Amino acid sequence: MIAVPVAFRVVEPADVDAAMAAHAGEPGSRYLSGGTDLLVNLRRGLGSPSLLIDLRGIAELGGLACKAGAARIGAGVTLARIAADPELRARYPALCEAAGAVAGPAHRNAATVAGNLCLDTRCIYYNQSEWWRGANAYCLKYRGHVCHVAPQGQQCHAAFCGDLAPALLVFGASIEVAGRAGRRCMPLAELYREDGLAHLTLAAGELVVAVDLPADPSPSAYAKVRVRGSVDFPLAGVAVALRAEEGKLVALRVALTGTNSRPFLLDGTGDLLGRPLDADALKQLDRLVQKQVQPMRTTLLQSNYRRVAAAALARRLAARLAANQQVAR
Ligand SMILES: Cc1cc2nc3c(=O)[nH]c(=O)nc-3n(C[C@H](O)[C@H](O)[C@H](O)COP(=O)(O)OP(=O)(O)OC[C@H]3O[C@@H](n4cnc5c(N)ncnc54)[C@H](O)[C@@H]3O)c2cc1C
Ligand code: SF4
Repeated sequence: MIAVPVAFRVVEPADVDAAMAAHAGEPGSRYLSGGTDLLVNLRRGLGSPSLLIDLRGIAELGGLACKAGAARIGAGVTLARIAADPELRARYPALCEAAGAVAGPAHRNAATVAGNLCLDTRCIYYNQSEWWRGANAYCLKYRGHVCHVAPQGQQCHAAFCGDLAPALLVFGASIEVAGRAGRRCMPLAELYREDGLAHLTLAAGELVVAVDLPADPSPSAYAKVRVRGSVDFPLAGVAVALRAEEGKLVALRVALTGTNSRPFLLDGTGDLLGRPLDADALKQLDRLVQKQVQPMRTTLLQSNYRRVAAAALARRLAARLAANQQVAR
């Protein structure tokens, strides 16, 4: 990779209010957590902020607490810590599996929850060197006018490829966000919109403070397909949370990443409740996934492969969780 020289100042605020004040003083500035997404992009010439606001010294963002069956994870908690936490693994295995499947061990030691939830969308025409993108007239997402994936339209279809979001969505996680008007809580699903150019709904200067996970989670699992098994973004990633009682499904949530510009919860899984997870139910689940994912030509692998792979992962995970609870007949 030919790196672009980047010049920026770095400040290290002691608390969330100071971080937001620094952002308000320099609106083009960016928050920095582990830097494993942001710094790579800046070295490729994707953005040129004059100020980075390093959040790593803010104690409030580093907390991790499991109380009364629920969990609160600070925005700055590293993925390595999540993957290794025994209480989280016992209650929210999908989350720990997703955290352990992000990039490589060195990345996970630095990478954080909020950085993963807020990472930029990805596309083969975007995650390239400045030289490569310049030679191809850039693209709609940054500095260009045409989308090379869907040239007729004016929408960017870059894919959201964070592993953690689906694994949090299946538990109904919410996030605490700090902004100029104070703090607010919202369902994690509302952090995202289907727009590769602006996939986050955060207002200017807002930052994620923590993630809250409700108590009494259903048994869960996460899996992804990727090009390089040791270190790679998901071409498709699927989390499933499934509970069965007396041989019938009583709860089923499936969430996906890597296929759309936002991670999302699959619609229609409620129709499968009250029945055993038999071959027909698995077929129905497969159809739901294939209908709702929208993979575009943003990776080297074909869109249809990602569609079929997402459905296969959902089927396999659901079947495994059901078998563990002896639902399937
Ligand atoms: C080789 C390689 C492989 C990778 N593989 C994967 C993978 O398999 N799966 C995957 O999910 N990711 C992968 N990544 C991307 C990245 O490592 C992870 O997504 C990581 O979790 C990002 O977290 P971070 O703390 O380093 O984020 P940063 O780079 O610090 O920040 C990412 C974005 O989040 C914003 N941000 C940071 N903190 C906050 C906050 N508190 N509030 C609001 N915005 C904030 C930043 O401004 C920036 O826009 C890979 C990266 C590399 C280089
Ligand atoms: S989907 Fe289109 S606009 Fe978006 S990054 Fe790819 S080529 Fe650029």
